Amino acid sequence: MQLDPPTMLTLSIALAAAAALYLAVEWRSIRESSLLFWSAGFATITVGSTLALLRGSGFLLIGIWFANGLLVTAHWFFLLGVARFTQVRLSRAWYLLFLAWLAMLLLPEEPSWSKVMLLVNSLLVAVLTLRASFLLRPHGRSLSVGAVQLRYVLLVHGLFYVVKAMTAVVPNTLIDLAAFRGEIIQISLVEGAMAIMLIALSMTGTERYRREKQIARLAARDPLTAMYNRRALEVRAPRLFAQVSTARPGALLLIDIDNFKLVNDLYGHTAGDRLLVTLSEMIRSALPEGALAARLGGDEFVILLREASSERVVALGSALRDQFHKTASQTFTTPEPVTLSIGANLFDHPPASLAALIEQGDAALYESKRSGRDSIRLVDRTLASDEPLRKTPVN
Ligand code: GH3
Ligand code: MG
Repeated sequence: MQLDPPTMLTLSIALAAAAALYLAVEWRSIRESSLLFWSAGFATITVGSTLALLRGSGFLLIGIWFANGLLVTAHWFFLLGVARFTQVRLSRAWYLLFLAWLAMLLLPEEPSWSKVMLLVNSLLVAVLTLRASFLLRPHGRSLSVGAVQLRYVLLVHGLFYVVKAMTAVVPNTLIDLAAFRGEIIQISLVEGAMAIMLIALSMTGTERYRREKQIARLAARDPLTAMYNRRALEVRAPRLFAQVSTARPGALLLIDIDNFKLVNDLYGHTAGDRLLVTLSEMIRSALPEGALAARLGGDEFVILLREASSERVVALGSALRDQFHKTASQTFTTPEPVTLSIGANLFDHPPASLAALIEQGDAALYESKRSGRDSIRLVDRTLASDEPLRKTPVN
């Protein structure tokens, strides 16, 4: 098979059509509008490349002017898709770029026509593509792997078009768009086929990675309070455990609302939900640096502290109890007080597992509940090797 221009164009038509279809199918499952714009871009390239084949039959206006105009339109769709993806509003000036293309109709048909056409076409494509690449630069927060890929593929593609534009101003280069003659046109057809593949692949990856990240974020959070759930805590706890030593003990606080069912029964489930959210906000704002917190389920929350001491655990627990009691008693009138019971333990060796640590916390919490609720029960396991376990009820 010879890589003559009609063959390369046919290949580009097939690749662009496949990319348009692939991105449209991807859009059906992900429903991100950027995918639709990108799919429209490749569909436009399919039409433009098909029309470009017509220049061989003498249809120069359609085969060159219109076909190249569609290539600019396709890159404009790519830019719109990236703007959607990055949630950036494009200025109106970008919509006026087509006027430059319309002006090409005024050009007289002489030998320099091909060069001016190639120059303007390449500059427009370069500007649109480089702008899209620029939009994908990191804005403080890190970009997904897919977005970084797309950023660089667009950058290289845009720079290629800058070089292509420059060849038009080099004296004595052969550029004949009607007959596809000139080295840069041949190279451009090969680059076009490659670019279609790489751009389409990274566009799919871009949304996919972002979707995966969103799903991972949702899977790690409790939907009501947006706190970590047990699974997310299990993933993050080992790092905190690894920092635990005799000099830097760790601590666990297991928190359960007392008589929470009364709030649900007397004020409704929504009021109960609101109280759970209030408690989660109190925990979040009282959390020291490097600590972790999660909602284990129901009315049970957990805090993991690093560099802890019994004084710090008691101070944190008491502050939460006081604050919660004040808010709950101001909001609800219940036959039994709605307060917090806390079971805590201090440890200076990494525990066997989070589950084992929670089990110990549970035992302390049970003690706290049994002795009348509204209290913190701390088990200091840092003394376990030299002395029997010391249990400190703090009311
Ligand atoms: P205790 O003092 O012994 O802790 O009793 P309690 O009334 O607080 O009830 P318990 O801790 O045994 O059970 C928690 C209750 O919380 C059970 C359930 O009806 C309620 N609950 C669990 N999840 C939710 C939720 O997402 N929203 C609301 N409003 N209630 C919930
Ligand atoms: Mg409870």
